[in-house]
Amino acid sequence: MPEAPQNLLERAEHDGLVSDNNKKALKFIESVTSQADEVQDRVLAEILSYSANVEYLQRYGLNGHVDKGTFKKVMPVITYEDLKPYVDRIANGDCSPILCSQPISEFLTSSGTSGGERKLMPTIEEELERRSLLYSLLMPVVDQFVPGLDKGKAMYFLFIKSEAKTPGGLVARPVLTSYYKSLLFKDRPFDPYTNYTSPNETILCPDSYQSMYSQMLCGLCQNLQVLRVGAVFASGFIRAIRFLEKHWPLLCNDIRKGTIDPKITDPSVREAVLKILKPNTQLADFIEAECSKESWKGIITRLWPNTKYIDVIVTGTMSQYIPTLDYYSNGLPLVCTMYASSECYFGLNLNPMCNPSEVSYTLLPTMAYFEFLPVNRKNGEPKSLKEDQQQVLDLTDVELGQEYELVVTTYAGLYRYRVGDILKVAGFKNKAPQFNFVCRKNVALSIDSDKTDEVELQNAVKNAANHLSPFDASLIEYTSYADTSTIPGRYVLFWEISQSGATQIPPSVFEDCCLTIEESLNSVYRQGRVSDKSIGPLEIKLVESGTFDKLMDYALSQGASINQYKTPRCVKYAPIIELLNSKVVSNYFSPKCPKWVPGQKQWCTEITK
Ligand code: AMP
Repeated sequence: MPEAPQNLLERAEHDGLVSDNNKKALKFIESVTSQADEVQDRVLAEILSYSANVEYLQRYGLNGHVDKGTFKKVMPVITYEDLKPYVDRIANGDCSPILCSQPISEFLTSSGTSGGERKLMPTIEEELERRSLLYSLLMPVVDQFVPGLDKGKAMYFLFIKSEAKTPGGLVARPVLTSYYKSLLFKDRPFDPYTNYTSPNETILCPDSYQSMYSQMLCGLCQNLQVLRVGAVFASGFIRAIRFLEKHWPLLCNDIRKGTIDPKITDPSVREAVLKILKPNTQLADFIEAECSKESWKGIITRLWPNTKYIDVIVTGTMSQYIPTLDYYSNGLPLVCTMYASSECYFGLNLNPMCNPSEVSYTLLPTMAYFEFLPVNRKNGEPKSLKEDQQQVLDLTDVELGQEYELVVTTYAGLYRYRVGDILKVAGFKNKAPQFNFVCRKNVALSIDSDKTDEVELQNAVKNAANHLSPFDASLIEYTSYADTSTIPGRYVLFWEISQSGATQIPPSVFEDCCLTIEESLNSVYRQGRVSDKSIGPLEIKLVESGTFDKLMDYALSQGASINQYKTPRCVKYAPIIELLNSKVVSNYFSPKCPKWVPGQKQWCTEITK
């Protein structure tokens, strides 16, 4: 028998390894979901015994108990506001075991805010491995539905964000920045599933333009090898397409000549890109021809013809981007693989090729101890029941079709912490429930990772409306919506004003109003405007007088009760937006970006980029 050529043997061996790893991962999922209740009890006991001596648990008198009954009886269900005094002490340099017996390695900055600033989530070294474990399960699951993805590359647009230091010297940064900068990511051994078109140097480049440009250039150069494309959230992937729309002539020029645009100055990025980039006239001509066509419909499948799906989160507020993604990809499957946060990585989608509206996430019982506060709907709005301790259910006690607010106890020192997400039980994998992501509590407006609630919006509008008083004018009513029909999307406010003074209000006053609202919004919004450029200038649309009465008439015609009617401070329903738009008399945009600096406003310490 003739000997098989070496590369065929290597290929067979490689395929064998991949398939063994995949089988192991699936077996692991099978095992922990089958024993979800036992695993959860073990996780809680582990967390409580590791941290038996921490100040927080002692304060509530847990006294070293590790059983669920005592834990549930003595420990309160809390929000960030309850945790903040402890977090502040850690941030200010108190190294005693306050929340966790293991040293806090850094803070993860959540996109959820408190008092206008990002929430700080303490984390410990070993959590990195837990996050890594969840990542390692994603592709074995996808492989069951789309085999062969190990034979090509993934074009994922991944970015780091700026980081700051707390007064006590701990780094504070987003969880993904922490992950991409870790050795687990940077020094990962070759794995066909983490074989990205973007070299590490391009992902780790702190300058967002250089990072995006170089990642796009590498993605284009390797277009035929690309089997899947994506970003973390849908908004990020759309931003990448928008970037291509703007910069394709420069990118084509580089591909034609094998050079890199001089604006890319980071030497490590240049070096890494040059290892991939070779002059290729044919490819440059092809990209140029496709990009200069009037329609960009299906541009993803045209430029990256072997792409099987787009890996992006389109659940929650990101669902607003589905039509745009469908347009650019000619309806490629949109795959949501995981559900995670700065507090904890929660779980994964075991049926990744399903329709976005059907996505459910299976919480992995080993990640943390999960509990659930039942949610009731009041006027359509989800309201968690008062935290009667008895009502907080365990993972395996939730009921099909019910909505719950997620509460977590983590290895890193959060105990019965309300994450703020509302989930609905959609089914079960063995004993582990699978949840639809319903919404984040109290989010009125969101474009990217920003989350603005009605109270913040109300305060911001109040500050802005002060600009009207010199003109004897006042704001009578307002509402808002997140307009994602443009890239980047923006907040739009409809204002109805009344004016008794005769002086016409100059446009600059309304522009100042726009800017004042932006200045008053939280730091995640302002970072999106200034640093990430993922949010466009805020717009105020003045509507003719009587418009909000018409809005009420419309609501009443649809069955709302006149006694209970309140002007919605945020609208999503297309006919209402159409009605409002039909009454617009003038519109104004924020003339510049609001102020934003990394870190929190009370810290005046060094900033690392
Ligand atoms: P952050 O704390 O900034 O990491 O944001 C975490 C939050 O993002 C979660 O609590 C959710 O509200 C949201 N999120 C994360 N993953 C998903 C997902 N797959 N679908 C919908 N929302 C998600």
